[in-house]
Amino acid sequence: MMVKSTVCKKCNKSTKLEFCNGCFLDVIYKRLRKHIRANQYIKRNDHLLVKDELTKKIFPSILNTPVTIKFKGKLLPRYKEILTICLDDIEELYLDKLFHGKSFKMKFSKQQIPLYICLTKEELQRLAKFHKIKLPKRKKTLISEFLDYFEKQVPGTKFNIKKSILS
Ligand SMILES: [Zn+2]
Repeated sequence: MMVKSTVCKKCNKSTKLEFCNGCFLDVIYKRLRKHIRANQYIKRNDHLLVKDELTKKIFPSILNTPVTIKFKGKLLPRYKEILTICLDDIEELYLDKLFHGKSFKMKFSKQQIPLYICLTKEELQRLAKFHKIKLPKRKKTLISEFLDYFEKQVPGTKFNIKKSILS
């Protein structure tokens, strides 16, 4: 979420964004930890499949329970896979269905952990950039621009829409 302030909302350090880099990481890691906890995605001694670079980098900062991690290969039955989709991905799906007159509820299997659906694509991008990781380029669509437009008009829109997708 972009805000036209010149100081960080948390520490008053000068920044063009809502938070300075340090506070941004604090806020994002905290949100990810809460997201994991609230959904009980990861339990002690779980087996996880982590294929993306970003999750490898940030896991030490957000995981506080011992787990077994596999970095490649197939998703074996006792494993759970970390998905890389973010909030914008599920909302673009949702809006696409909505505009076609269909209802949509996002469902994940017990083997899927949508870790990043608590982050917008901008937040995910900033997190990746901080860790010097290049994310795949996103396609701009009518729907993604529509979503960005509303987020600009009414900050928080993306997080509000999320509530009607996941229940
Ligand atoms: Zn700050």
